Amino acid sequence: MLLNEYGIIAHTDNAGALRKNAIACVAFNTCPLALAEGQRYLPTLISKLEPILEKHSMHNDNIVMRMTGCPNGCGRSPNAEIGFVGTAYGKYNLHIGGDRLGQRLNTKYKESLNEEQILTTLDELFGIYTREKKKTKHLAIFLTANGFCSMIKS
Ligand code: SF4
Repeated sequence: MLLNEYGIIAHTDNAGALRKNAIACVAFNTCPLALAEGQRYLPTLISKLEPILEKHSMHNDNIVMRMTGCPNGCGRSPNAEIGFVGTAYGKYNLHIGGDRLGQRLNTKYKESLNEEQILTTLDELFGIYTREKKKTKHLAIFLTANGFCSMIKS
């Protein structure tokens, strides 16, 4: 009842697919091991990614994105389709290609990206995906099958 009264249920129901699937660890300011933000930053990053997903007609895709504030992985970034691992304040390693069911680990694609670099890199990957995917392929399967998960770019 309180969740309805304060609009939490409606807010959750109206959230996009990426936001509904996302997980982040607590990181700053709760965890003393954090190198970067987790739960306080991921919602902001998703708000900046949503127009990019819309541009590529991917806003309804059930992409699993996770973020952790350090390599310990409490937010389970290592088995997300798109995983961020904090390396310093405002910087994240970008990992891609984990199985959405959690049965395959992802691979590091780029190191220590700031927000602008994250948005640019994902815009490029989403563009390639929407141009070249076959309809039945999910993002992680496409990235793995097309060799992106074996490329580490600086
Ligand atoms: S992943 Fe690192 S920063 Fe996040 S809660 Fe675990 S130990 Fe803390």
